Amino acid sequence: MNDSLCPRWKGHPLLSKKKAKMQQLFMDRRVQLFLGKFLGGELDVLNPVIKKTGYHYPGVEPFVDDPDESESFLSMLQEHGLINSEVVGLLAQCGNCKSYELDRFTPSRRGKIEKTEKATWRCRDCGALLDEGGLVFQQVYSYNFSKRGIDEISDRLVVKPLRDFLRERGYSTKSPGKLLGESDVEHVFDILASSGNPKEGMLAMDFVVSEKPVEESHVASMFAKVYDTAPLKSVLVVFPGLTRDARMLAEQYKIDVVETRNISSIWIELRKVIPPVDELRYEPLDVMALLSLPDHLRKTATVTSNLGKATANEISRKTERARAVESGYLNQLVRMGYLKKEREGRKVLFSVIS
Ligand SMILES: [Zn+2]
Repeated sequence: MNDSLCPRWKGHPLLSKKKAKMQQLFMDRRVQLFLGKFLGGELDVLNPVIKKTGYHYPGVEPFVDDPDESESFLSMLQEHGLINSEVVGLLAQCGNCKSYELDRFTPSRRGKIEKTEKATWRCRDCGALLDEGGLVFQQVYSYNFSKRGIDEISDRLVVKPLRDFLRERGYSTKSPGKLLGESDVEHVFDILASSGNPKEGMLAMDFVVSEKPVEESHVASMFAKVYDTAPLKSVLVVFPGLTRDARMLAEQYKIDVVETRNISSIWIELRKVIPPVDELRYEPLDVMALLSLPDHLRKTATVTSNLGKATANEISRKTERARAVESGYLNQLVRMGYLKKEREGRKVLFSVIS
């Protein structure tokens, strides 16, 4: 069995269009994350929510850029045999302008215009008066995942094996997961893992599926999120691997990298960088650790330790350094696992792990 994720089809003379399209599908993070929900059992049936203004699929909206893309995204998955649809209802639309906003209309008794006699609906958008024949009916579907379709490709779906691994190591996981950054911007990671207690360390994981070595830009964009949210550990999983420069950048940024061509060997690779959940914790800042820090960070750590819990502003007043500079040092210490960062309302507080 060849369960290589990526390069097998590349340049193959018999590469069929269908397979090439399928390959594109696996490189699409939206597809990976969405099918991961089905495979993980979190999503069983995707039902539409029907409103007066039409219908939509809240279950798929987190995965598409624009809610209007939901249906084309779903029908693309259906074309590939990965999900099945079922008609769950018919929705009446104005035959004139396709609006769903129809009001019941009662013809006036006082003998107005004859044309209105038969009308039973009035379109709120274009004002047309419509009888049954003037309406069109839109079929509305629910979707469930095709076990057969997904079994065939499950060796190329990455979210489930990643979450299975994390679960086996004792973590609770969320996919995708959101973390609020210091800048007040909410960042999305493909998977967030923790012991279940959000006060303890978070592990943030992103993945990239590509047909060629992945470049620095992916590492840099993950770092931007990591910098703002300071998870205790950040891991980038890459299929098939990073370029040399990208690997060096990840090392510099302290992002752990797992590179693999095979889903089947991914556990071995993950085990090298991801500790069991009870070992993912902040290190108490003891004397030895303190001594090993460069002077500028030692000053930050000492002041924070003396203040107990404090904001970057309060700490910078004591160290007499610019707040932005101090904030950079504080976050560095957080990423090193020596300081803890938590939010209380609008405040971001730093403290020493004890
Ligand atoms: Zn209309």
